[in-house]
Amino acid sequence: MKTTTTNKEQLWTDISSRLQDVFGDHAYRGWLRFLEFEQDTGAKIILSVPTAFIRDLIKSKYLDGIQSLWQDVCKDIQAIDIIVKEKDQDKEDTQQPVQQAPASGSKISLEGLSGNTDGLDPRFTFDNFVVGKPNELAYAAALRVAESEKVNFSPLFLYGGVGLGKTHLMHAIAWQLHNMPQKRRVIYLSAEQFMDYYIRSLRHKTMIDFRDMFRNVDVLMVDDIQFMSGKDSTQEEFFHTFNALIDQKKQIILSADKSPSDLTGIQERMRSRFGWGLVVDIHPTTYELRLGILQTKAERIDIDIPNDVIEFLAHKITSNVRELEGALNKIRARAMLIGGPITLEATKEALKDLLRANERLLTVDEIQRQVAEHFNTRISDMKSSKRLRSVARPRQVAMYMCKNFTSKSWAAIGEEFGGRDHSTVMHACKKIEELKLSDPDLNEDIHILERILSA
Ligand code: ADP
Ligand code: MG
Repeated sequence: MKTTTTNKEQLWTDISSRLQDVFGDHAYRGWLRFLEFEQDTGAKIILSVPTAFIRDLIKSKYLDGIQSLWQDVCKDIQAIDIIVKEKDQDKEDTQQPVQQAPASGSKISLEGLSGNTDGLDPRFTFDNFVVGKPNELAYAAALRVAESEKVNFSPLFLYGGVGLGKTHLMHAIAWQLHNMPQKRRVIYLSAEQFMDYYIRSLRHKTMIDFRDMFRNVDVLMVDDIQFMSGKDSTQEEFFHTFNALIDQKKQIILSADKSPSDLTGIQERMRSRFGWGLVVDIHPTTYELRLGILQTKAERIDIDIPNDVIEFLAHKITSNVRELEGALNKIRARAMLIGGPITLEATKEALKDLLRANERLLTVDEIQRQVAEHFNTRISDMKSSKRLRSVARPRQVAMYMCKNFTSKSWAAIGEEFGGRDHSTVMHACKKIEELKLSDPDLNEDIHILERILSA
């Protein structure tokens, strides 16, 4: 007997009218009523729903059931797929008045729940992560969490500036868990997506499912938690999710652009809990790490870049790894379009804008970073009240550099060094001027730093 498309579509009408009876009111109202017939490709039936969240949820909990309903009425159906088809009405849904609308095209990965690794970048693996001083701790902690069977520290809280590899490490954990023999249920999503799903669940009155899903995972990863800043009801919900998982000794992994204690707009009780497990920061890149990353990436994308160009880039593009990648891609694109060898001159020409942007970034932050890196201290020490020589001297050098490399006033510079007085900055500059004459080592340090900063 030949089954036609319309025939299958008709069958779907029958099946969908039974969904409520079979799966219950709750599941029907929450999720299943959104299912629509899309296409029949022969052995496969394609249904659609308005959001990725609903798709993932149905796939993880109801797909088998729906499949057997089909097979009851039509033996030759082998598979059912559910796709996302945005509805106009759903777009309105995201424009809720209280909290900001989520970015479009956002994806959730419900690895283990639905076997879905959609949201994960295939390049973001441990293998592709270049390890150096600034990120070795974060790398080790991430690897530990991904490889160990028992939960050693929860939450793992990773923080650092943009483009330094937080998301990369989180995806790497998810991939690693995905490839392990024992299947753990893993959810990776951004804080923004968490809020998005939370709000949708409120709207569709499916909070039970929402909680059911988030509180029954083995590993929950939420990226860019600073996004929850000022979003009180989302924070409230997350707080309960967090506690439920910690109580069950499950693994939580969070990332943010700041340390827990510096996260403004996040409730105090949350901030303190974020520090319960292990908190690791990813420091800004060093010259050596940038060199390593550039060499590795150039090899991976298979372009031959002379050493002087690599060194030039590592010196000049100090903001973050994303920009380094951008530079490599530009160089490659140019080489492919125009041909000819990759030279320092050609590179400077191709990267004019990027280089200028990195120059403009000579801020107090950048100076503090470079000076701290040079003296092997921390930026936080620069701003602290510590008076130890090993901290105080680099601090004075940094103040001196700020005076020479920015147009800021004594007072404004003092402000950026833990709210110090303008007279402290004046004194520091005078002191360094003196030491340059009497201390050859320090004089050398100053020269190196001046070269780096004016490069
Ligand atoms: P963040 O989430 O901290 O803003 P990402 O993880 O998105 O930063 O990293 C930005 C880009 O830089 C990504 O393409 C990532 O693969 C790359 N990257 C960052 N750190 C490293 C590293 N140590 N080794 C290799 N690639 C890196
Ligand atoms: Mg990120």
